Amino acid sequence: MNAINNLSKAIQFKTISHKKIEDFDFSEFSGFLEFLKESYPLVHRNLELKMINNYAPLFHWKSGSSKLPLLFLAHYDVVPVNESSWSVNPFSGEIKDGKVWGRGAIDDKNSIIGLMETTESLLAEGYQPTRDIYFAFGYDEETMGAHGAKRIAEYMRENNMQFEVILDEGGIVTPGSMMGIARDIAVVGVAEKGQCNYQFTFTGQQGHSSAPPEHTAVGKMAAFIKDVEDHPMAMRLTEPVAETLINIGGHKRGIEKFLMTHVRTFFPIIKKTMAKGAQTNALIRTTVAFTMARGGTAANVLPDKASVTANVRVLPGDTPESVEDWFKSFNHQFEMARLAAERPTAVSKTNNGCYGLLKRCIENVFNQPVVTPYLMIGGTDSRNYQGLSDKIYRFMPCRLTSEELALMHADDEYISIDNFNKMIEFYTLFIKAMNEEA
Ligand SMILES: [Zn+2]
Repeated sequence: MNAINNLSKAIQFKTISHKKIEDFDFSEFSGFLEFLKESYPLVHRNLELKMINNYAPLFHWKSGSSKLPLLFLAHYDVVPVNESSWSVNPFSGEIKDGKVWGRGAIDDKNSIIGLMETTESLLAEGYQPTRDIYFAFGYDEETMGAHGAKRIAEYMRENNMQFEVILDEGGIVTPGSMMGIARDIAVVGVAEKGQCNYQFTFTGQQGHSSAPPEHTAVGKMAAFIKDVEDHPMAMRLTEPVAETLINIGGHKRGIEKFLMTHVRTFFPIIKKTMAKGAQTNALIRTTVAFTMARGGTAANVLPDKASVTANVRVLPGDTPESVEDWFKSFNHQFEMARLAAERPTAVSKTNNGCYGLLKRCIENVFNQPVVTPYLMIGGTDSRNYQGLSDKIYRFMPCRLTSEELALMHADDEYISIDNFNKMIEFYTLFIKAMNEEA
């Protein structure tokens, strides 16, 4: 029960991430760190703590061994709430109906408290790891991690650190019914798509709208948008997606099973179905979403400029540069500016003992789910840790139904007590396994 109460207390700190760092209420962040110190005395007595950029704690559990260490990532910032649409106080950490309620319950205070509870208990029983373990907690993951994760990773690079494996939030266990199979599915993120923003500006003739040219700047912009939307980037099968389809296909039946387990051959057929769903479409191509547009100053004045912003999610294998070339290939007249560019991450391999062990721990703690690597279409803090390990896995040990999954960043977020206990069970098992077996 202590663990549950601590999660409840953790939720009570309003550690909200804002676009601008000046808008963060850092008294809440220091309060949270103080709470960790009070609640986990053994962790704070036995592990070395380095505070990066004031609010990002990096804990180091020393073993005396020279084996490559483990690194666990999590973040304690949360997205803002729309309090009036919640049925509970989002920062009360209320415990009722076998659940802990509040912002951050499944993203991602559950991971921090789960890891702290695990470590405190292991220390209490006198456990001594045989390889070093690090825990790094970011405080602005929801706004890209420039102040937390990025700075921790920089510190690690400066100190030439390397890790056997890095585990962050990401994939989860879901009911197999979501993908039409009987067994549960556990997805482990092995790569993340990149993300770029581009702004396109179109120039038009100025003057009165009573004698307009054939195409105004707004018209040129509209033609470009239509052209791009009508001709999306080519579909392509990447390794993580192939592995997901093969693993899940193995539990399907008939022709579907045959096609999915031979996806490398039958991708030309399978891709047509995948292109029809927004989620599956995003797995097999670089996607473009035009998100903001503006142009003109008055109803009867020709716009001299019109501009549109596109948010592009880049499939591993594509780059911000190849995306730019692709935009140019449409042969429209515009000026293009790249506003932000995050490349897709490297793809972590799964043909190694460490992944095998992770898989066995997942199978053990949960109800023998089908464990599979997958491609993440969203981002996590772990993208900042590129190059610090060749095995970066994104998995949060929780079983969430589709309804529960939808609570992430939404109203009435909660975690069931059962799920939270499973997290601690998983972390304990994984830490012990990585120390004893690998
Ligand atoms: Zn998160």
